[in-house]
Amino acid sequence: MTRPSDLPPVAPTTQKPYRGCHDSTDQHVALVPAPWRLSGVSDLKSADVAVVGGGIIGCAIALAARRAGLSVALLERGRICGEASSAAGGLICAQYDADHDTPLFRLRVAGRDAFPEFAQLLQELTGLDVGYSAGPTIGLARTHQQRQDLIHRVAWQRQAGLQADFLEPDQARRREPLLPPDLTGAALYPDGQVNTQRWPPIVHRALRAAGVHVHEGTDVTAVSDGPNPTVQTVRGTISAQHIVIAAGAWIRHLLPWVPVVPSRGHMLAFQAPNLDLRHILHVPGGSLAQRSDGRVVFGATKERAGFDRRLRAGAVQEMLNRALATLPDLKDCPLDAIWTGFRPEPEDGLPLIGHDPRSGCYLATGHHTHGVTMSWHTAQIIARLLTSQDPAYPLHPFTPHRLTTNA
Ligand SMILES: Cc1cc2nc3c(=O)[nH]c(=O)nc-3n(C[C@H](O)[C@H](O)[C@H](O)COP(=O)(O)OP(=O)(O)OC[C@H]3O[C@@H](n4cnc5c(N)ncnc54)[C@H](O)[C@@H]3O)c2cc1C
Repeated sequence: MTRPSDLPPVAPTTQKPYRGCHDSTDQHVALVPAPWRLSGVSDLKSADVAVVGGGIIGCAIALAARRAGLSVALLERGRICGEASSAAGGLICAQYDADHDTPLFRLRVAGRDAFPEFAQLLQELTGLDVGYSAGPTIGLARTHQQRQDLIHRVAWQRQAGLQADFLEPDQARRREPLLPPDLTGAALYPDGQVNTQRWPPIVHRALRAAGVHVHEGTDVTAVSDGPNPTVQTVRGTISAQHIVIAAGAWIRHLLPWVPVVPSRGHMLAFQAPNLDLRHILHVPGGSLAQRSDGRVVFGATKERAGFDRRLRAGAVQEMLNRALATLPDLKDCPLDAIWTGFRPEPEDGLPLIGHDPRSGCYLATGHHTHGVTMSWHTAQIIARLLTSQDPAYPLHPFTPHRLTTNA
């Protein structure tokens, strides 16, 4: 059911036999320079900032640091945005599942609100359409309890000053005619989506246009602190004034004390050019969105399965059942692709953003289910810290200092 990636091979350190999410009809994929060049680090001995990990968090940080006037080397062992960041559903969402006002909820809202600027920056740097669209999303209730939950969610969020509306089933169906017949209520939130499957070539091009030194196929094996911080890679050593580790679910391989583990997610994509889904739909256990090319994506499971990329039959069945129950019209559509990806899940539920006294590096990881949403906001915070400015955001709950305090 899955298809091999359409992108040229880049000698990644891990193989991805079950990833099939790159759309061969996507015009942007053809814009990747071929053959994909692996630049050595030997030509670059130092930079103001070395960013380890070329997922969307590391790439956004590299761009924000460049905008702040710093020279940046980005070190990625595989391909830019080749892991969680292109496996993601791409929902730029904050409110649909939040039942309380928490620091993490506020970070998600700030991330969602900052994201359009990032989409615009990528577009300006590349001249390419990143597939971002803002628009309301709908949370669905199909039981009495779920209806009550939505009413409560909308009420507290409105009290907290956020935009949220409860809709009766007939009101919701007027907005979105494809909704299932057994609806008991719905909630409307201001959100958006981006086509993350387009990201590897677009983000790569944006980085180069911004003057970031991009090194793919460059596994970082160690980082060392001290008066002359250095990053050791399989292709050479770089010294940098600051090191930022944005290695996603793999951060423990470099810094074993950082409590972040892989959370596997299964995603499905359907070919559905004849369906006209106007909103992103959220149901308990999944979200469904239609891309501008007509594909409908549904995801995702949350599983602790280490770094096992293989598809699990039960997970696929579960996802198919949920997708078809949410949008019955999908049952006749061709299934286009199924894939898995690894979110960086922090053991205490909170992302790690800021300086880590133990390693001497800045950390930016643990964004778990909402890393795409929070990418640009995180990057701006890190860029301010790198230039000795106030982060302009209450960072306390997210600072890696808590790892030392709790040790
Ligand atoms: C199925 C799924 C659906 C999702 N849906 C959404 C969604 O709809 N909305 C949303 O906001 N978020 C979503 N997420 C979450 C989001 O994708 C992640 O939180 C985000 O991509 C994390 O970005 P990252 O850069 O930290 O990690 P990654 O994208 O995984 O990047 C980390 C990078 O570091 C590299 N790396 C690791 N170790 C080294 C090393 N030693 N040397 C060099 N490079 C290294 C890796 O190769 C990798 O490319 C989803 C995730 C999954 C898996």
